[in-house]
Amino acid sequence: MSVDPKRVREKMVREQIEARGIKDEEVLRAMRRVPRHMFVDEALQAQAYADHPLPIGHGQTISQPYVVAMMSAMLEVKPGMKVLEIGTGSGYQAAVLAEMGADVYTVERIKALYQAARQRFNQLKYLYVKTKLDDGTAGWPEQAPFDRILVTAGGPEVPAPLMEQLDDPGILVIPVGESKRHQQLLRVIKDRGEIKRENMGSVAFVDLVGKFGW
Ligand code: SAH
Repeated sequence: MSVDPKRVREKMVREQIEARGIKDEEVLRAMRRVPRHMFVDEALQAQAYADHPLPIGHGQTISQPYVVAMMSAMLEVKPGMKVLEIGTGSGYQAAVLAEMGADVYTVERIKALYQAARQRFNQLKYLYVKTKLDDGTAGWPEQAPFDRILVTAGGPEVPAPLMEQLDDPGILVIPVGESKRHQQLLRVIKDRGEIKRENMGSVAFVDLVGKFGW
């Protein structure tokens, strides 16, 4: 990038994230630190901090910065928590969660994206992010339970295995919708045996493809 990425990130956080009401200091700090331009193709680096999603190949996208910040805030991640992400994509969201101090497990179903993300985690020293190439709708049973689960692709329902692998107390965030590419962002809270579902508004994610997805 020809301009200083740190300054561009500072501006992104101020104008796109803080200005829209996200106050969680840990989220803001992580968004200031993760070099988002390193998670997209070189040809798209100049647009990396713009206020929209970007293509990452294979018909998939890296989410808009605000959406990443909003979902990270909804998860109420505390340092040391075990967090499962379904839909590694570029690896950007996983890096943001790692910067917040989470112990991150992330699953991707497309091999080329999985490999590219692994390479980025190594290069950028996110060495503790655990990756898996698989259908994430089945979760990661060997590593369960998780304090937090984040699905960054939209499915028809909350995959049952993910509900089982969510600890009590725990929070799960997922875009859910009857039609593809138009979903409601759902926050599911498990607390002392009770399940509470909150609708956090409309979103448009790529499809969650798998046994418990489309
Ligand atoms: N979190 C990503 C955005 C990902 S886009 C980022 O920060 O860049 C959604 C991703 O979910 C795509 O890469 C897609 O291949 C993946 N995906 C879709 N269905 C999946 C499934 N069943 N298991 C794992 N990954 C899945």
